[in-house]
Amino acid sequence: MTAITLVQGDITRQQVDAIVNAANSSLLGGGGVDGAIHRRGGPGILEACRELRASHYAEGLPTGRAAATTAGELDARWVIHTVGPVWSGTEDRSALLVSCYREALRVAADLGAKTVAFPAISTGIYGWPMDDGARIAVRTVREAVADPVEEVRFVLFDHYAYGEFAEALAAEGPEAPPG
Ligand code: ADP
Repeated sequence: MTAITLVQGDITRQQVDAIVNAANSSLLGGGGVDGAIHRRGGPGILEACRELRASHYAEGLPTGRAAATTAGELDARWVIHTVGPVWSGTEDRSALLVSCYREALRVAADLGAKTVAFPAISTGIYGWPMDDGARIAVRTVREAVADPVEEVRFVLFDHYAYGEFAEALAAEGPEAPPG
């Protein structure tokens, strides 16, 4: 059974098996979580991202997909990069956001990660409303079968994001369904 926990803080300070990065499709760095991960994790992560681009993703990592690299100097074994959708007021892109959480968890499970830290994907530079982003995140993780992942930790940068995730979690219930 996968437990869902919430903490307010900096995702680059987490001690977990895998840290999920809200990356952009280039995999070559950006702002927000991405910038923080590369700054703190050191150049090894960027180097591994360049290798991924050269080997598997010449056109970039598509939105909704996920791929793992070393975690460099972070206190984790892997960084799992996923590309969230940019919020649109005219088009429903939530299936892509669902896909980010699902795919990142699938990659984590394939790697054998027991603890995985997620940021609130797409809710920063990509403009997704926090309440909806939180609902999608919590619901998707609750529904995903993620053996051997034991803990999914949402790491929320500020009080507001934490509050929205706490509300979403309370609405969904903290426990995974039996079986
Ligand atoms: P996106 O481009 O997918 O929107 P961002 O990195 O801009 O990604 O933002 C995603 C969320 O992560 C936002 O809610 C932002 O406030 C938050 N955030 C930014 N830096 C950190 C960090 N170091 N640790 C945890 N969350 C962060």
